[in-house]
Amino acid sequence: MTDESMTGESAPADSLTAIFRRLIGTHGPVSVSHFMGESNARYYDAGDPLGAAGDFITAPEISQMFGELIGLWLADMWIRGGREEPIHYVELGPGRGTLARDALRAMRRYGLEPEVHFVESSTALKDIQLAQVPNAKWHHDLSTIPPYGPLLIVGNEFLDALPIRQLVMTDKGWRERMVAQHDDRFVFAAGGQPMDSAVPEGRREAEVGTIMETCPGAAATVYEIAGRLVDQGGAALLIDYGHDAPRTGSTLQALREHRKVDPLAQPGEADLTAHVDFSALAPIARSRGSKWLGTVTQGHWLRQLGIEMRAESLSDFAPEHKEAIHAAKDRLIGEGQMGALFKVFALAGPGWPQGVGF
Ligand code: SAH
Repeated sequence: MTDESMTGESAPADSLTAIFRRLIGTHGPVSVSHFMGESNARYYDAGDPLGAAGDFITAPEISQMFGELIGLWLADMWIRGGREEPIHYVELGPGRGTLARDALRAMRRYGLEPEVHFVESSTALKDIQLAQVPNAKWHHDLSTIPPYGPLLIVGNEFLDALPIRQLVMTDKGWRERMVAQHDDRFVFAAGGQPMDSAVPEGRREAEVGTIMETCPGAAATVYEIAGRLVDQGGAALLIDYGHDAPRTGSTLQALREHRKVDPLAQPGEADLTAHVDFSALAPIARSRGSKWLGTVTQGHWLRQLGIEMRAESLSDFAPEHKEAIHAAKDRLIGEGQMGALFKVFALAGPGWPQGVGF
């Protein structure tokens, strides 16, 4: 393998770099999945990574229109689904709570006032989220979400942060892709165990060096959501950058201060993400009996929901911000910006309506 990174000569003993050095030095290479999982757990727990002063910016932080249109979509589903109550708004990885605040405000206009649940692992972000939405209940995972009443589930840039597993084709067959140590750098390396059985039969033939990614956490999340929608009713929107057909190649990337950096260089100090393979998630949801409403581009979906009109009415209300409002809208829907790369994936319980925009 060719990618190499400095692990830093003088990493403090409690830094993740030092911990991985000791771990790999004693027990040998760790999987990419282990490396990514530990890195992001440390990274998100350390503080607020979002916004201009942070490492990356997300759609709800770009414009209130994003959360508002999500709220509108959910309210429409709820009204056409029969206005059932109690009803729960569940957000996965709510970041600063901005999306929830904007969506809840839009829902209120249609008489929808759900109980609010946040699924979040970061204690640092928890405080920011609760300041934004004080009545929200906080959960570590979906298991403690009430088992009664329909669920309106939202996750924006949540799945991309879950650890991926990488498999690499070698001249001896498929192997787990690992992180090893070479001098004072972390480097990618192929594991020793045969992994051919982990690759779907139709995709086993591949050139040496081919990389295949799976995301067990995303699969488990969609499995759980789909089961809940079947049992309790409701709908889910998962929005992320990714693709809707299987692909090969590594999509692991790291962002720090809005720049791409080497994903192995500073574990725990940069945001590690990977593209979401939505084509793998739809069959999982359907296998549980949930409705898959579709996977469409963010640009298409926001246009169908009327983002152009919303930008106009916001501009009429605040003409001095007209240019900024339109620039934000273009960023969300522009083909070369977020409009084509980001996808909106939606599920609903049996008997629930087809959502707008799919
Ligand atoms: N949805 C927000 C934030 C996206 S960043 C936005 O669009 O701005 C990813 C979010 O997922 C953060 O809130 C992070 O703390 C959370 N997160 C990452 N991994 C998680 C996990 N395994 N369990 C729960 N939350 C997680």
